[in-house]
Amino acid sequence: MSETLPAQWARIRSRLRAEYGEAAYRSWLKPLTLSGTSDEVVQLTVPTRFMRDWVEAQYGERLLSLWTGENASIKNVDILLEGSAAAQLVESQAATMQAAAVTEARQADISAPLDPRFTFDNFIVGKPNELAFAAARRVAEAATVPFNPLFLYGGVGLGKTHLLHAIAWHIRKRTPERRVVYLSAEKFMYQFIRALRYKDTVAFKEQFRSVDVLMIDDVQFIAGKDNTQEEFFHTFNALVDQNHQVIISADKSPNDLEGMEDRMKSRLGWGLVADIHPTTYELRLGILQVKAEQLEAEIPPKVMEFLAHKITSNVRELEGALNRIVAYANLVGRSVSLEGTQEVLHDILRANDRRVTIEEIQKRVAEHYNIRQSEMYSSRRARAVARPRQVAMYLSKQLTSRSLPEIGRKFGGRDHTTVMHAVRKVEELRVTDNSFAEDIELLRRMLEG
Ligand code: ADP
Ligand code: MG
Repeated sequence: MSETLPAQWARIRSRLRAEYGEAAYRSWLKPLTLSGTSDEVVQLTVPTRFMRDWVEAQYGERLLSLWTGENASIKNVDILLEGSAAAQLVESQAATMQAAAVTEARQADISAPLDPRFTFDNFIVGKPNELAFAAARRVAEAATVPFNPLFLYGGVGLGKTHLLHAIAWHIRKRTPERRVVYLSAEKFMYQFIRALRYKDTVAFKEQFRSVDVLMIDDVQFIAGKDNTQEEFFHTFNALVDQNHQVIISADKSPNDLEGMEDRMKSRLGWGLVADIHPTTYELRLGILQVKAEQLEAEIPPKVMEFLAHKITSNVRELEGALNRIVAYANLVGRSVSLEGTQEVLHDILRANDRRVTIEEIQKRVAEHYNIRQSEMYSSRRARAVARPRQVAMYLSKQLTSRSLPEIGRKFGGRDHTTVMHAVRKVEELRVTDNSFAEDIELLRRMLEG
């Protein structure tokens, strides 16, 4: 470690203290210790996993910009769990040594490690993934090859890798004599390239063609990579011809894989093709409940429902959100409120935010007050419709970037002064009428999802 680093770190710490205030500094930043640098990377350690995630999410960017400001050679800041920093340095040294010992590396197992959490037991089944799940189980349990290949496809974070690992675990446990190889298409490519470089392609071919079950994850990766694709095609054919099971995952259906040769696309679709659809609200809620139980965390149902409503992108994000909530609850020693949830997850929630339209606001508000959506544009002035209309105008002002005249036009061609009046009226009522204020808050939350 160079002499100047501790001095730089001290200056950065006092900047952080000034910027974030004493309370945040004490809870999150003071516990950080400078543990070393390797090349262009500063390593900071923290005592707990949660703190690591939190500091990374909340302060990571600022830490990096302060460091680069102090020291132009710094390109990255790693926030590590205490005790792991040294391990990482050793690991990188080991990697260098390994690269040198080519012959040894070549003989290493070609299968990538499996995640112990990715089992069938831990997979929650719902409408969007029931076909993929059933197909995966079938392949895992069958004594003979039921369909070849099994091709699973779907968007990011929807459980493809989980199902592949689950199949591998299951087969390895039940029939350990069967040789199961799981790896990403990317890794397949690197192994192939290495084999080419070391003129070792015969061994490479033999290795792959002797497996009983071959799983290639994210096969879209080799689209457009002609040599790898060619090699994969031959491996694939050899295995299928010998009636050995091949399982493939991808982000698209065989036909939609761009940069994939037609003969490859066609062979990929020969067996069973099963897609995983985007999650539904029910599935998300189910996943949250099971995962919360596994974490032995008590989370108010309202918070779970909120998460299932809001975090719609994929299961990985949903898990991330839940982990944060649980960690936060453990830290503060009580379960989290809806407000707390919003605060702890504000970055994730923002990323899941869509732009709200005035039409959506009108629809939701009408539903909420049990009136027809057409009343939003009608000229009726009865309180029962006029008030909800005002609420919708107010929310349009708050949640969209539309101007008052634009909003007026969307409400049956009303004048901008009418909208202004509505905004004032709602603001007034929010102060004087608690239940009204709660209504507005609820609507706002629903719409922001
Ligand atoms: P993909 O490979 O499709 O991008 P992953 O299999 O890596 O997605 O899944 C992302 C995360 O979500 C993993 O932690 C996985 O365990 C979890 N996950 C996805 N679907 C489910 C499900 N149906 N039940 C339980 N966990 C799931
Ligand atoms: Mg994956």
